[in-house]
Amino acid sequence: MSKLSGLGIETIGELLYHFPRRYLDRSTVVQIGQVMTGQNVTVVGLVREVDSRPTRRGRSILVVTIFDGTGYLSGVWFNQEYRKEQLKEGVEVAFSGRVRFEYNRLQIVNPDYDILGRPDAGSKTGESIHTGRIIPLYPGTAGMTSVMLRRLISRALVVLGETADPLPEPVRRKFDLAPLGDSLREIHFPRDQESLKKALARAVFDEIFIMQVGLALRKKRHETESKGISHAPPGGLVQTFLESLPFKLTGAQHRSWLEIAEDMGRSYRMNRLLQGEVGSGKTVVAVLALLLTVESGYQGAIMAPTEVLAYQHYTRITGMLEGLPLRVELLTGGPGRDALDDIAAGTVDIVIGTHALIQEGVGFKRLGLAIIDEQHRFGVVQRFLLEKKGESPDVLHMSATPIPRTLSLTLYGDLDVSVIDELPAGRKRVQTVVADKSRRKDAFKIVETEVARGRQVFVICPLVEESEKLEGRAAEEEAKRLSRVFRGYRIGLLHGQMKSEEKRQVMEQFDAGAIDILIATIVVEVGVDVPNATVMIIENADRFGLAQLHQLRGRIGRGNEKAIAVLFADPSTDEARARMEAIQEYEDGFSLAEADLRIRGEGSLFGTRQSGLPDLKLARLSRNFELIKRAREEAFRIVDNDPTLSEAGNLLLRWETNRRFGGSLEWLFHA
Ligand code: ADP
Ligand code: MG
Repeated sequence: MSKLSGLGIETIGELLYHFPRRYLDRSTVVQIGQVMTGQNVTVVGLVREVDSRPTRRGRSILVVTIFDGTGYLSGVWFNQEYRKEQLKEGVEVAFSGRVRFEYNRLQIVNPDYDILGRPDAGSKTGESIHTGRIIPLYPGTAGMTSVMLRRLISRALVVLGETADPLPEPVRRKFDLAPLGDSLREIHFPRDQESLKKALARAVFDEIFIMQVGLALRKKRHETESKGISHAPPGGLVQTFLESLPFKLTGAQHRSWLEIAEDMGRSYRMNRLLQGEVGSGKTVVAVLALLLTVESGYQGAIMAPTEVLAYQHYTRITGMLEGLPLRVELLTGGPGRDALDDIAAGTVDIVIGTHALIQEGVGFKRLGLAIIDEQHRFGVVQRFLLEKKGESPDVLHMSATPIPRTLSLTLYGDLDVSVIDELPAGRKRVQTVVADKSRRKDAFKIVETEVARGRQVFVICPLVEESEKLEGRAAEEEAKRLSRVFRGYRIGLLHGQMKSEEKRQVMEQFDAGAIDILIATIVVEVGVDVPNATVMIIENADRFGLAQLHQLRGRIGRGNEKAIAVLFADPSTDEARARMEAIQEYEDGFSLAEADLRIRGEGSLFGTRQSGLPDLKLARLSRNFELIKRAREEAFRIVDNDPTLSEAGNLLLRWETNRRFGGSLEWLFHA
C-alpha cells in the first residue's frame, strides 16, 4: 500500500473515498474519423507513436499520436517530456480538449488525458472494470496510475460487504438517500448515468451534512460549557461616547451593537462575526464593545493584520475617545515597549496592535474582549493565541470581505453573525472605470483637476514580483516615473518594505493633506481612511482579485465628494476579463462576492483549510444553497437533542464527523 500514501491513502476507507476525478462515458466518445477542428471532444485510442525533441528556442516538444481504428490524432506538450513515462506505445488513452489541424495532422495541445490501461489488462483478472460503459478516472500519481487504482478499489469494494452507514436512518429516509455501500460501489463503477447521479448526490449530502454536524457540535459546546464573562449592561461611558459622536448610528450599526451587547452580557463566551462593507462603520461598533468591556472592569484588544491598519485604528480610536478617562496603547512590535508592564498591570484599558499582541511577553491583567479585525487574514492558531491572553474573553471577529450567504453558513457556521448592511447616509458611490493604456491622458487629467480642487489621489501598484524587496523597488520606480509626470505635486510613497516609522510618517502626511498623490502597494488595502481622497488609479488591475479591488476602491468616496476609481487593465484570460466586467458592474460587495464565486468557484475564495474545516471535494456551495440550509437545520436539530452524539443511533455519525474534521472534534466528546 506504500505507493498509495503518496495520495494520502492509508486505509481501505480512504481508498474508497478516493473518488474519480471524472468519468469517461464511452457512449460520448467521438471517433477520430468524425472529429471536426475547433470542436471540444474526448477521443480514445491506442498510443502508436511517441516523439520528443528539442525545439529551436531551447524548449522540448512531446507529440503522442493515437489511433482508434478511424484515424490518428496527436496530443502535444511543451517542456513536459516526463509524460513519456506514462504515455507509452500500446497503452490505451483518452484525450480531451479542443482539436486543431496543424502541420497536416489533428492535434490537441495540452489535452486533458487519462490512461485507460493496456487492452489486455482487464481480461487478466477476468473483471470488466476497465471496459464498462462509464469508466472512472482517478487522480493518480506517477507510481500509482488510474488503472492500478481502479483495480485496487474494485477489490476493496468486494471486501467492503455491507457497510455500516454513519447517517442515521431517519435522515436517510427524509432526504431520500441511497445506502452508503451501494453509493460507494456506484461512484466507482457506475451502472448507468442515473444511478451514478443518485450515488453522487448521496456523497454530496454527506459532505454538507457532516460539515454542519461538526459546526453544530462546536457551537453547542461553546454555548453550554465555556465559562465566559458576563459583561454589565451598557452604562455611562458608552452613553457619553454615543452622545459625543458627530452622527447617529445607522439602523444596521445600532442593531449590531445591541446584538453584541446582549451577547457580551451572557455568561457564555461570545463568538461573533461582525460583517460589513468597507466604510459601513464597523469601527464605531467595535469601540462601543471595547467601552463595554472597560466599563465592566476589563481590558479590550484589537488585533489588525498590518501595521498600517493597526496604526490607523489607533489614531482614529484615540481621536474618538478623546476626553474619556481611558488609556489606549499601540503595540506593533517596534521599539518603545514600555507599555507592556502597564498592560500587565491593567492600567492600560485598550490595546491596539498587530501580531505583536500574541507574542509571548505580552500579558493582560484582565482581558475581557478580543477583537480580530480582518479575521480571515489570521490563521486559526493566531486567533486562538489572542483568546488565550485572557480567561475566556468574549471574541468579536470583524470582516469587510462580503461573504455570500452560502459560504458563511459553512465557513462561519459556528459563529453568530451580525451584518452591517447599510452605509452611512450621504455616502457617494465610487464610479469605477476599467481602461486600457490609451486612456492614460484622460486619467491624468482627472488627477490634475481633483488635486487642483484640493483633493487627494491614490495610485496603487500591484506586487509585480513575488518578493517583497522587488515590490518596494517597483513602487519606487513608479514613484520616480510619476514625479516626472506630475511635476510640482507632492508625491508620497508607501510600501511593505518601508520601516514602520517611515510608513507612519507617510500616512500622517497623507492624512494631514501634505501629500497630493500617494503611490502605494497593497498595504493600503484595508482600513486606510482619508475622506479627502477622491481618485484612485490602479495599475495592472487585472492582477488583483475582486475582493482586493473592492477593498481598494473602498478607500475613496469616504467623504461627501463623488469619487472615481480608474483601473488600468490588460486582461489576457477570460477569467480576468470577467473580473474586470464584474468590478465595473457591481457596486456592493455582496453582489460582487457572488460574482466572484461564479467566476472562480469557491475553492479559491477563501482557504477552508485556514478555517479548520474539512475539505469539500464534491459539494458546490454556490449551487447547493437550499440543500445546505436543510441539512444545517437537520444537523442542528440532532445535536440539540443529543449534544455529544452518544445515543446508539448517532455513534457512527459522531465517529465519521470527527474523522472528517481530522480528529479535531475529539476534545468535544471527552472534556
Ligand atoms: P469600516 O471600519 O466598516 O470600514 P469605519 O468605521 O471606518 O468603517 O467608518 C467609515 C467612516 O464612516 C468613518 O469616517 C466614520 O467616522 C464614518 N461613520 C461611521 N458610522 C457613521 C454613521 N452612522 N454616520 C455617518 N458616518 C459614519
Ligand atoms: Mg459574554
